[in-house]
Amino acid sequence: MEDCLFCKIAAGEIPSKKLFEDDDILAFYDIDPQAPFHFLVIPKKHFTSAAALTEEQAPLLGHIFAVIARLCAENGCEKGYRVVTNVGEDGGQSVPHLHFHVLAKRSLAWPPG
Ligand code: C5P
Repeated sequence: MEDCLFCKIAAGEIPSKKLFEDDDILAFYDIDPQAPFHFLVIPKKHFTSAAALTEEQAPLLGHIFAVIARLCAENGCEKGYRVVTNVGEDGGQSVPHLHFHVLAKRSLAWPPG
């Protein structure tokens, strides 16, 4: 999608610090980390947010969560981690391209602010 920051990152037009990439998804470090280990996972295909998902995306979502589990296991997150996707204004979403935050290596409070 034109003028979408994360579509440009997915296409390599804007640089990112990559953790994992394949044909369908990209995992990269958040530029403003909120935990000692904080990365984002995005589908390369544009979805505005999780609100745009249907049953059709079940395989893509399964793949995303399997990659998250593997990256966390490979990067010493044995004490746990949080996976978050913000949706819309009240959800605190600032980039309108579906992304999953993965936060680890500190104790995370609940409920979030
Ligand atoms: O959930 P939300 O939409 O607010 O998250 C967007 C995230 O994308 C932020 O954590 C921000 O730091 C990150 N970001 C990034 N690289 C950019 C622009 C934003 O990692 N170039």
